[in-house]
Amino acid sequence: MHIRTRFAPSPTGFIHLGNLRSALYPWAFARHNHGDFILRIEDTDLERSTQEAVDVIIEGMAWLGLDLDEGPIYQMQRIDRYREVVKKMVDAGLAYPCYMSEEELNKLRDQQMANKEKPRYNGLWRPEPGKTLPAVPAGIEPVIRFKNPIGGSVIWEDAVKGKIQISNDELDDLVIARPDGTPTYNFCVVVDDMDMNITHVIRGDDHVNNTPRQINIMQALGGNPPIYAHLPTVLNDSGEKMSKRNGAMSVRDYQKAGYLPEAILNYLARLGWSHGDAEVFTKEQFVDWFDLESLGRSPAQHNPEKLLWLNHQYIQNTAPAKLAEMTKPFAHELGIDTENGPDFAQVVGLLKDRANTLIEIAEGAKLFYLPAPDHKIEQIAENIPTSIVPVLKDLIETLRNSDSTKEAYAAAFKQVLAKHQLKMPALAMPVRYALFATTQTPAIDSVLVVLGRDEVLKRLSKVVQ
Ligand code: GLU
Repeated sequence: MHIRTRFAPSPTGFIHLGNLRSALYPWAFARHNHGDFILRIEDTDLERSTQEAVDVIIEGMAWLGLDLDEGPIYQMQRIDRYREVVKKMVDAGLAYPCYMSEEELNKLRDQQMANKEKPRYNGLWRPEPGKTLPAVPAGIEPVIRFKNPIGGSVIWEDAVKGKIQISNDELDDLVIARPDGTPTYNFCVVVDDMDMNITHVIRGDDHVNNTPRQINIMQALGGNPPIYAHLPTVLNDSGEKMSKRNGAMSVRDYQKAGYLPEAILNYLARLGWSHGDAEVFTKEQFVDWFDLESLGRSPAQHNPEKLLWLNHQYIQNTAPAKLAEMTKPFAHELGIDTENGPDFAQVVGLLKDRANTLIEIAEGAKLFYLPAPDHKIEQIAENIPTSIVPVLKDLIETLRNSDSTKEAYAAAFKQVLAKHQLKMPALAMPVRYALFATTQTPAIDSVLVVLGRDEVLKRLSKVVQ
């Protein structure tokens, strides 16, 4: 079987991280099986669909590297096709016009509720052999209803939830086209899944209720239902459904906050799927390992700390040159001129082991691109004890004559400390102050390498004059 999967988002409202997980799994399944992955934009809800949401989806997927074989295909561009299938179904007696008005439907519902029955369409306009239908009222455009099978059940083996069985008595005759002829949601999904030869539908479990209806329509159309895998929801860190209102962030927000796409992908992969106890893995490993059997059956919970931890892992394991390229936009945002001053990749290399995000790296890098501090005499007196001045002078001389390697700089410090019988902090603090007017810097010997000996000597000399 040639595997074909799809991600079929409705571009309505806010697209959070959990939404994109529904793209990741069908993508991984298609890639694992050398199949095709299709993006279908379900934009028939004209009032709620926005271009902004479409952009967030497409950009987010591209950023994560979820490449497409087909699409994006917009449902709004397939309306003629849906109408054609509606007509075919009516002609074949698989669907029928229903002239029941809104008021009549409401009345029916009220009656059923009063009798403690489940509200459902009563089949008034459903044609049956030997049945006489009511007279067609004038001036009313009908809806088109699907002739749902009567009796029996719809059964499918859900790849996540196991066997699901729904009695047909639970399902009434679904409206597939509105009075103005526009097709309805469940119907479009079926036509698309059939036309696109989708073999596996991997989607959120909020669609479990739609599945028996979709299977019935598909079978009526002579199609073979795909395999369904319904994913449990992603909850936020307080155990609620993720939404913008309770602080969910979009992929774009994570990008802006300095997260690496590899970290987000790795994180999302584990949000409802596992491979033994593997926590950090590459995209290739993920594709290699992905199967539907290892999808989780209970809701996954978003864990921002874990995501940050993963981001740190990826930052640590990325080569400085590559990381520098990724960090540059953030540095420029902070006003750092990465082309003027120490080698940016070297600065990034110095900071990466302690950073959780690219923004943190950029913030740490700032120090190296600021002009040399312009210390006032009183400030120098306050921050550099007079007893340390001769030590600094010695340090200047020793550094001037040492090799220009990190090891040689460290040795120069050791030598000067031993001579004056001091411990590192007594010297490191004044040095940091002299170099940057702050006491927070990365390891001092590394700083020397990055800033360059000439610049260091220049800055040190200024405070001992
Ligand atoms: N458009 C639906 C949604 O965004 C998904 C439909 C499907 O995957 O079948 O929830």
